[in-house]
Amino acid sequence: MKIFLDRNKTLLPRVDKINLLARLLVLISICWLTFIDNSFEIEKNLFYILIGTFACQSLLFYIATINKFDIKLAYLSMIIYDLFFVPLVILNTGGIHSSYFLLFILTISVAAYVLTFYTSIIVIGLLSIGYILAISQTFDIEHMLNASLVFGFFWVFYFGLVYASEYLHRSESRMLKLLNTLNLRTSELEKYQAHLEMIYENSRVLASILDSDSIIAEVMHLMGKVLHYESYAIIFSDNKGNFLFRARYQNKKNSFHLKQIDKEYSELFDKACRQNNPLVIKDITNREDYQPMTKNSRSLMIVPMVAHDRVRGLLVAESSTAGYYNERDLQLLSAVSRSAALAFENSELHKKMEAMTVKDELTEAFNYRYFVQKLEEEKRRASRYQLPLSLIMVDIDWFKKLNDTYGHESGNMVLKELSRIIKKSIRDVDIFARYGGEEFAVILPQTPQVDANIIGERIRTNVERHTFMIEKGEKISLTVSVGLSSYPENGYSQEELVSLADKALYKAKGEGRNLVCIT
Ligand code: GH3
Ligand code: MG
Ligand code: MG
Repeated sequence: MKIFLDRNKTLLPRVDKINLLARLLVLISICWLTFIDNSFEIEKNLFYILIGTFACQSLLFYIATINKFDIKLAYLSMIIYDLFFVPLVILNTGGIHSSYFLLFILTISVAAYVLTFYTSIIVIGLLSIGYILAISQTFDIEHMLNASLVFGFFWVFYFGLVYASEYLHRSESRMLKLLNTLNLRTSELEKYQAHLEMIYENSRVLASILDSDSIIAEVMHLMGKVLHYESYAIIFSDNKGNFLFRARYQNKKNSFHLKQIDKEYSELFDKACRQNNPLVIKDITNREDYQPMTKNSRSLMIVPMVAHDRVRGLLVAESSTAGYYNERDLQLLSAVSRSAALAFENSELHKKMEAMTVKDELTEAFNYRYFVQKLEEEKRRASRYQLPLSLIMVDIDWFKKLNDTYGHESGNMVLKELSRIIKKSIRDVDIFARYGGEEFAVILPQTPQVDANIIGERIRTNVERHTFMIEKGEKISLTVSVGLSSYPENGYSQEELVSLADKALYKAKGEGRNLVCIT
């Protein structure tokens, strides 16, 4: 049974010291009244015992208040002690005529304040019985009114105190609840702010990364180490509308391998992408349009990465707790997704810029400046390691006529298509450049003249066999002339190689075109 009210978390004042002070005053007043006021004949020995035990009990209580003993036990022992002490004092100081009945007030106050309602009722009941026993010798009809008044006073005083104490405790518990909520909210806000600060810091890091793989690694780090998601992923879509995992963390493992997501499980991604809207799903169990990354995932959050109105991909987070993600989580992931989208955009622009400085816009072949620089590099490498090097020049036959007949735009279409054919005819290590106008050059590292001749021939025949699409859906055929030079067979300097390849091309033109020539 619970005897005491729970005061562990109370904001109300502790009454230990007040109670102790009151007991000291009682002690002094009993001594004083007994020695000064001699109207009662009191057995001195009994009186000394009473005073002595009262003093000991108060001392014990004092020791309990300084945390040496259990204060609850001290209160209990005090109440039990008073149940005997006060009736004895009353009995020996005139019974019904004694004014020491007021001492009960101290016990009642303590009982009403520290005990539970039912325990205190028992205490007050016992006090009443004690009082009746103490006054029973001098009790008669004449004193009934007097006794009833004392009883009435006891009980009214008791109920008044209980009510006040209950009221205080109820108000206090409401206030504590409020404080608790406030504390909870404050700590949530602090956490949110700390997250935001970390995301801000990481966003600055993201903004400075130009390589997309590093951006992916950084975003994964953010979702795992800063936002502490259980499972999470970065998803991209290809131009056919398929969704692919670009990076994911599931079952405590990171994976950076591309993995296509089945169309039947892509519906939610598709929705988030199309509507450019984040999605939070409280429970994904038994959903047929989604396949969780881990078996025990319950809730899901999908946030599109958007920069300048273009969705660049999706960030996905899963949790094993249903309804785990709230508005604040969504805001945090959205902050990450915005930074990530900008970082991806940045890196794409940077790549484009880099390409623009070395590539020809129309044909996407390297430009003349890059060709010169690369030829010099390859020539130097060939000389140093005694490796062969070849150069091929390709010029379209009768291109002027084609331009005049079908228009400049058709000429451009042919140039683009021709670039694709030449690229397909050479190796990845070969450097293909637009030398100028409708003339192209291919640097062939580590390639002797015999092999270069084969490649030149391959280009010539591939072009000859190809049907070119031009404007208005018309189709035409054309041929190219190819000139080639090789190191060390023909020339030693890079200028020599260029001029010899040019000469060979001129020779091919002279000998009737659609030919591969060596000087
Ligand atoms: P040949 O067989 O002797 O090479 O005859 P050709 O008509 O091809 O003669 P030439 O190589 O002198 O002609 C180059 C033509 O290429 C001239 C120019 O109109 C055209 N041309 C150069 N650059 C471009 C371009 O970017 N787009 C288009 N459509 N035509 C270009
Ligand atoms: Mg030409
Ligand atoms: Mg030309």
